[in-house]
Amino acid sequence: MKCSRCGKELLEKDTYAHEGKPMCEDCLMEVGLHTRQCEPWSTYLAAKERVGKRGTEGLTVMQQQVYNFIKQKEKTTRDELKANFKFTEAEMDAQLTPLMHSELVKERGVANSLYLTVVR
Ligand SMILES: [Zn+2]
Repeated sequence: MKCSRCGKELLEKDTYAHEGKPMCEDCLMEVGLHTRQCEPWSTYLAAKERVGKRGTEGLTVMQQQVYNFIKQKEKTTRDELKANFKFTEAEMDAQLTPLMHSELVKERGVANSLYLTVVR
């Protein structure tokens, strides 16, 4: 990896994040910052990774569509979902399971019927 300012070749442990870009210690001091005020590059990357996994980012187009459908309806049933997307039971499960695992969609039971709803 290279310093975004001077282009010097850097080791990850000697790299700091400055406004989302990698920077070396010398350049940080030149812009008036101390390394103590900056996040090490590895910490910055790890935090960025977590943010990326939150919410609906990283879903496939189809999962996103299923999610939006449920969100629009506020609550819907598996049958409604299946009819809307012309899914088979297996296709629907394949789309719903990752959404449920990422806790974006929940299935709730009311009386004898189950309905799907998005988690807010
Ligand atoms: Zn530099």
